[in-house]
Amino acid sequence: GAGAGAGTGTGAGAGAGTSAGRAAGAGSAEAARGMLERLAVELGAEHVTFGDDVDAYLDDYALGDRDAFRPAGAVRPADVAEVQAVVRAAGAAGVALWPIGRGKNLGYGGPAPRQPGSVVVDLGRLNRVLEVDEESAYALVEPGVSFFDLYDELRRRDSRLWASVPDLGWGSVVGNALERGYGYTAHGDHQQFVCGLEVVLADGEVIRTGMGALPGAETWPLYRGGFGPGLEGLFLQSNLGIVTKMGVWLLPRPERFAACRIAIDDEARLPELVDAMRELTLEGVIDGVVNAANAVGVAAGQSSRERWFDGDGVVPDEVVDVIAADLGLGRWNVKCAFYGGDELLDLKERRVREVIGAIAGSAVSVNRYDGTATAEEVLPMDHFAAGIPGMLLAGGVRWRANGPTGAHIGLCPVSPFTGLHVAAASRIMRDHIEAAGFDYIGGWLGTGRHAVNVLMIFFDAADPAESDRVRRAFAELVPLLAAAGYGEYRAHLEFMDLVAEQFSWNDHALLEFTRTLKAAVDPAGILAPGKQGVWPR
Ligand code: ADP
Repeated sequence: GAGAGAGTGTGAGAGAGTSAGRAAGAGSAEAARGMLERLAVELGAEHVTFGDDVDAYLDDYALGDRDAFRPAGAVRPADVAEVQAVVRAAGAAGVALWPIGRGKNLGYGGPAPRQPGSVVVDLGRLNRVLEVDEESAYALVEPGVSFFDLYDELRRRDSRLWASVPDLGWGSVVGNALERGYGYTAHGDHQQFVCGLEVVLADGEVIRTGMGALPGAETWPLYRGGFGPGLEGLFLQSNLGIVTKMGVWLLPRPERFAACRIAIDDEARLPELVDAMRELTLEGVIDGVVNAANAVGVAAGQSSRERWFDGDGVVPDEVVDVIAADLGLGRWNVKCAFYGGDELLDLKERRVREVIGAIAGSAVSVNRYDGTATAEEVLPMDHFAAGIPGMLLAGGVRWRANGPTGAHIGLCPVSPFTGLHVAAASRIMRDHIEAAGFDYIGGWLGTGRHAVNVLMIFFDAADPAESDRVRRAFAELVPLLAAAGYGEYRAHLEFMDLVAEQFSWNDHALLEFTRTLKAAVDPAGILAPGKQGVWPR
């Protein structure tokens, strides 16, 4: 009946507790099959997937068992009305849905759903850049628009506006912002530049947030407030609705820009480096997100491990020295950017050199470009600063497995952006992951007040023993980091419950409140059950 398979089996350990995957309810496989067959008639058979073709919607970076998160099928609606029809069909059939934009959420589950047996709602056909406003500097985009698509559209229009891009350009602008992803321009903290959402709710209704509710208002993508409570945040990392349009603020092209690299050759000076970067960011000298990686991390982005070391255990310290010398790296390496005319860049660069110069063993290098420089004129390593999308770092997964089964998973605890905390988080993760036999590939993203401390693990998804070691290390690290006050900002499907469980203040009151909202707007629990640990009651 209705609700079967959509997380109605919420007996023991419902909610905050369990990290076990929930089996789909009885009869749900047939319910899903029936729904997919009906939608094949409605949407066109070529826009509905089931059977073996579902493999395209598995998580290639799963820890061992790709079938743990196997969907029953996928549907590809063409427009908002078809999204509504899909949601209504799922409500009637009691089938869980899992919306994706481009499905490139690798390291967090890719296109696969949290609950096996769900039907993926692939929004890839809603791929229009609906509006680019040159005066007010925003775009209105659909969830199937990738960073490449938005960049191409801005160039096609000869726009003066830049979008911020993450490491890989193939992901969805909407999906990434909804997941609170990062890029590296002045607009790199993507969630801060979302303004105005259109959302299809679990009952098939459509809402527009904020000023979008005022018919004819042009301020929907300009002013977040609206009249009354701000609801936009409810739809980030959320299973309360399917976002079908999003306003995103764009950066007016600067006259000139500087892509800046900072390195320190002494690990022990990490706290000084972090404190310096925070001050430069808070002062407004550096614009946007600061991105740092250790030497092995940078090397992993451009080479395979055997080039340096093919022994067992972690890459030894002497080898790290060789890597750093060969690739011209420090033990920690920062990339960041600042924008303005040359006079302003002179002042900013002088201040960067002054602050960083006080750290022994540090180096600063700056490349400056015209805002109008083409992608060919900007060094590939500096593309991040101008929002030029690429796939430069996609090779990192070959660090350990030189083949199609190379995979990665990221652990990303948030700390204050202070030397003390970033060094402490780094130490916890490094000790633990090295004990598990993996190289410490570490980094941090800083945006003024907080740092996202990144532990990247490259592993061979085809090697079950290796997957097991990763799983165990993660399961231990999450509570260990939480005990130090560091909570993940995002998590792979496999660890969503465990991460949610750590946010336990006042007897899990926040998660309970979220579940109350979920019960009110999606009583049958059809939208992304289990996402971010939020299961239907
Ligand atoms: P990427 O940008 O890497 O391609 P996805 O598009 O797969 O990422 O989106 C990442 C995650 O964000 C999805 O797994 C889903 O949980 C959520 N998400 C993506 N698009 C939407 C949407 N339109 N509405 C609600 N949630 C979404």
